[in-house]
Amino acid sequence: MEKSTTRNHGLSEMIRGLWTFLPQGGSLPADVWNKRHRFLVGLTWFHALVIALVGPVIGYTWELSLSAPFHDGTVLHTVAEGLIVAAFAVLGNWKGASRAVRASLVGFGLVSSSAILVHLSGGYIELHFHFFVMLAFLALYQDWVPYLLAIVYVAIHHGVVGVLWPREVYNHVAAFNAPWTWAGIHAFFVLWASVGSIIAWRFNEAAMAQTKLILDSAGDGIYGLNREEEITFVNPAAARMLGSSVKEIVGKPMSQVVAHMTTDGSLFPDGSSPILRALKDGTTCHATDEVFWRGDRTSFLVDYVSNPIFERDRLTGAVVAFRDVTGRKRTEQELAKKAEELARSNAELQQFAYVASHDLQEPLRMVSSYTQLLAKRYQGKLDSDADEFIGYAVDGVTRMQGLITDLLAYSRVGTRQNEFEPTDCSVVLREVMANLKVAVEESGAVVTHDPLPTVKADGNQLAQLLQNLIGNGLKFRDHRPPVIHVSARRSEREWIFSVRDNGIGIDPQYAERIFEIFQRLHTKGEYPGTGIGLAICKKIVERHGGRIWVESEPGKGATFYFAFPG
Ligand code: ADP
Repeated sequence: MEKSTTRNHGLSEMIRGLWTFLPQGGSLPADVWNKRHRFLVGLTWFHALVIALVGPVIGYTWELSLSAPFHDGTVLHTVAEGLIVAAFAVLGNWKGASRAVRASLVGFGLVSSSAILVHLSGGYIELHFHFFVMLAFLALYQDWVPYLLAIVYVAIHHGVVGVLWPREVYNHVAAFNAPWTWAGIHAFFVLWASVGSIIAWRFNEAAMAQTKLILDSAGDGIYGLNREEEITFVNPAAARMLGSSVKEIVGKPMSQVVAHMTTDGSLFPDGSSPILRALKDGTTCHATDEVFWRGDRTSFLVDYVSNPIFERDRLTGAVVAFRDVTGRKRTEQELAKKAEELARSNAELQQFAYVASHDLQEPLRMVSSYTQLLAKRYQGKLDSDADEFIGYAVDGVTRMQGLITDLLAYSRVGTRQNEFEPTDCSVVLREVMANLKVAVEESGAVVTHDPLPTVKADGNQLAQLLQNLIGNGLKFRDHRPPVIHVSARRSEREWIFSVRDNGIGIDPQYAERIFEIFQRLHTKGEYPGTGIGLAICKKIVERHGGRIWVESEPGKGATFYFAFPG
């Protein structure tokens, strides 16, 4: 019992396997089917003509009577048979009928011509080959209905006609005596010829299904054009973007499905879409941000590429891939607007910082001079608390003045519009060293430099940059006196300056952060500062189209580099 269930299971598996191997049929894309159908209708017409001409060419009698078409050996007989085949060719073009019906009509026409040729030859075996040839051609439709009908036709023709009028179908005695056996032999070969065609058809179908799957799952819209500018295929993404269905689009001229316009919404100079250029001169054409209008008068922005299709060097059509970029464009515009707003509020903020710092300077100068005066005049004359408090006030005011000076310098960097002039860096360095004279002497520093070049720069800003870097070298020192060296070398497109010191160095993890405003690594008061100096340096360098960076080993010193183009 169990055994038979397993056997049944195995059998159903086998049948299912066989079933999935069989081609599905009826899935040819419209343009491919139409092309094949046109060819097969032409073949049917050809047979109609050949059959009609058999009589006159071979010299059949020109009997002209109503019964003549039914008499073998008359011209009218072959003409009548030609007309039967021609009728199938005419019906095959019946536009209102479905594909299966039209293909079956052509199938009947072709298999009928086989039967007629066998009959006209008096049942010559060799003429039976014609059936095989016709079945092979019919497999081009890749559709079960016409194919199976043709096989049934052959079987009935051989079996029934063979039994009733064996001499119409066969030309030898063995077949006259056993028509069914000979029909079976013929059927056997017909069957295997069909299996061969079906296998070819199945492989063909699998390859097409894969292409279809790729097209269907593509996010971009893709459609094909023939030389008549008609859409031959379209993928679902394209149909969706064009606001229609695949079925509605295929077969229509492109101009009826989509109106293509320039970025500013006007027509192209020659009135026709550049996409069609691929069809005219075989060139690839692509563009961004152009406009596609749908049938319902809505539009969207596209990026597209249109490629010509060549079959053996012959231009046969084009394939167009496009993408709706309306969303991207909108995001780009929004981003640009945001950037503009940001730049504006940045400028406003800078202006505010400048004005605020500038206006603070004056009252602060008063506070500073009076607290200093207070300290000078009353130091030691009041109680010790008062001395201490005055000391805090002087320190605080000094720090605040430093901060305001730096803030003013920071907000001034980007505001000046002067052109960059050739500037001798040695002269600039000399000025800087004069400014830093006191700090250098106090720290016992040694500052040296290599020959420096002339670069295109804003001299004042270059001085500020060098002063900040050398000043930091003097400030961030350990117990040793600072040793600072300034040099410059040429690379391919820029001058690279360096300021090297032997101070406390910087942990590499902060190498980027120290260039941001208010970033200080030592906040316990051991190295006073505002955290603005390097931010000013970065702004100056960037304004000159250059870059700035640091290399350092903590405890061994730091080297600041900045590159100026030129
Ligand atoms: P400030 O000097 O006012 O603190 P900067 O912007 O000039 O601010 O420097 C930011 C931070 O980078 C400093 O607080 C310091 O910690 C570090 N730094 C800058 N230059 C050096 C240097 N030459 N050696 C060691 N550390 C430095």
